[in-house]
Amino acid sequence: MPPHPVRLLLINPCPPESFWSFAWAMDRVMAPQRALNPPLGLATLAGLCPDHWDVTIVDEAVETIPDRPDADIVGICGMGVQHTRQRELLGRYRRQGYYTVAGGSFASLCPEQLTDLADTVVAGEAETIWPRFCADFEADRPQASYTEAGAVDITEVPVPRFDLLSLERYATASLQFSRGCPYQCDFCDIIVMFGRRPRTKAPEQIGRELDALRAQGADSAFFVDDNLIGNKKVAKELLRYLADYQKRHDYPFLFGTEASLNLAQDPEMLSLFREAGFGWVFLGIETPDVESLRAAGKMQNTKADLLDSVHTLYAYGIDVFAGFIVGFDNDTPEAFENQHRFIMNAGIQVAMVGLLTALPRTPLYERLEQEGRLRHDVAPGDNTGGHTNILPAGMSYRAMVSGYTALYRRLFSDRGIARRIRNKVRHLRQPAGRGGQSPQRQRLLLRRILWHGVLSGGPGRWLRFGQTLACPPRLWPQVVSDWVRGLSMRDYVERHFKEVPARTWHRARKVWASLNRRFAATVERGSLTAELEATDSGPGLNVRLRGALDRTFFTAGQRHLRRLLRQPGSHLTLRIETVYQHQREALIRFLERLAAYRDRLSVSIGDQAREQLGHELARLGLVQGTEEVVTS
Ligand code: SF4
Repeated sequence: MPPHPVRLLLINPCPPESFWSFAWAMDRVMAPQRALNPPLGLATLAGLCPDHWDVTIVDEAVETIPDRPDADIVGICGMGVQHTRQRELLGRYRRQGYYTVAGGSFASLCPEQLTDLADTVVAGEAETIWPRFCADFEADRPQASYTEAGAVDITEVPVPRFDLLSLERYATASLQFSRGCPYQCDFCDIIVMFGRRPRTKAPEQIGRELDALRAQGADSAFFVDDNLIGNKKVAKELLRYLADYQKRHDYPFLFGTEASLNLAQDPEMLSLFREAGFGWVFLGIETPDVESLRAAGKMQNTKADLLDSVHTLYAYGIDVFAGFIVGFDNDTPEAFENQHRFIMNAGIQVAMVGLLTALPRTPLYERLEQEGRLRHDVAPGDNTGGHTNILPAGMSYRAMVSGYTALYRRLFSDRGIARRIRNKVRHLRQPAGRGGQSPQRQRLLLRRILWHGVLSGGPGRWLRFGQTLACPPRLWPQVVSDWVRGLSMRDYVERHFKEVPARTWHRARKVWASLNRRFAATVERGSLTAELEATDSGPGLNVRLRGALDRTFFTAGQRHLRRLLRQPGSHLTLRIETVYQHQREALIRFLERLAAYRDRLSVSIGDQAREQLGHELARLGLVQGTEEVVTS
């Protein structure tokens, strides 16, 4: 035990960029905000620590993580998409001698994948097992793992330590009312983790959490519940409480949450949502194809017309964000057109379309494993990145990925953004919430979106922006928000889902063929291998160096490879197995020339090469990630 109160550093690793990062909006429009939501799980964990512990939270998404923190324990959480970074950080802090703890949803689903790097793995809900770990640590007998197999009672959970978060850096604060969902969608890991019987906090607990958020200056709050209306009776009690709370405090908050689509069939619930000040709801619509919904077990979405349901929410002044999935067994290439038509007609701007992904321990995962339709070379995680771990039944994998990226390009053209706004405001009643951004903040956002988004888009975009303002002025804040979201998602699409022109493929084939021809003797000896493959993002050339190379390779070969790298969408993977001393300088110059294209270059090195080159690769900015693979 340290001779002072235990110092605990909790870290939320930065997830890889995705649609959810809204990177363009955060960079150009939303400052000082830098991310959507704070790490609520870590604030909850901090609230469960003994009062005398000295706890710090660092969220790598909005701030830099410390190199040598004053801490006795470093706890690192993570969802599936953060898994790689979580492992990197665990390894780094453990090598520095800190006591490391891993937790979060990935640790709960796959604890065995973290035991090699964490001194303790905490799996499952933390409310009971975390205080046990704290007591054991103080008694100098911490265990290697703490597992909560059951479902904890959340009526006694203390208020999260919101004071440890820099809330001004997030678009919205967050809190949680319930865990669990009564439905049975076969791809969902929520019910695997939290069960099917929704457990809820008491409304008064939520009142105390809102008091704490107000004390930190928050003006909007996201209920992170996966389905706030999983238990309708209790949800209505909460909503009545919230409506009263808002009234008593002069409407300090704009609320948002996630809910199942049957919300649209309950007028009483909708009125309560409106009275409580909910400005938006995220719905898992998934697909307009009823057969796919049935096959996935998403029966609650088959009870009413989907488009009518969205319009009903608009009529109560509630904006709709929605999740969609392509890749169901019933999906053929026509599915993309159906999804596009539905999303456009529904006017849903934040349309998070993802490829069907099989998450471990879900019924979908088990079925596809039995059918031999899982790709084990792709980690399940972010399903909006253009790759997934399933093999579809109704089309080829490539057709699915290219249909998916084409769908996004269509949705986020200027025309697509503007048409969806017009289709929405036609049905949207004035939002009920009086909380949220102040008029000054709204004017600032308008100026920024005009300057950074609209004016720079040229006359076509000016016209479309003007057309979307042809609605009652009370809806203009909604129009501006939709442009911010739409342009941000468009920026992501432009950077990640670029259409690869035919000439890029043509040039990649030429480079590959000329490399093999020009260095035929080296290839023959086995010192050089060059293989061209089609990747999701374009042509990928895999080059392996494992012996003495011709002197000319470092000059002529480098010119060939740069010709490939100059083509957007192409990618070079360079594997260096061995480095001969007499060729070391030439190899470094070779890498220096290629490093200009480091965003399209991955370099991995063998043990012998690491000793010779590790330092130089770091100098060139080609080192990131694990020690096994050095990747730019
Ligand atoms: S409704 Fe949502 S949270 Fe509930 S099981 Fe289906 S996907 Fe999961």
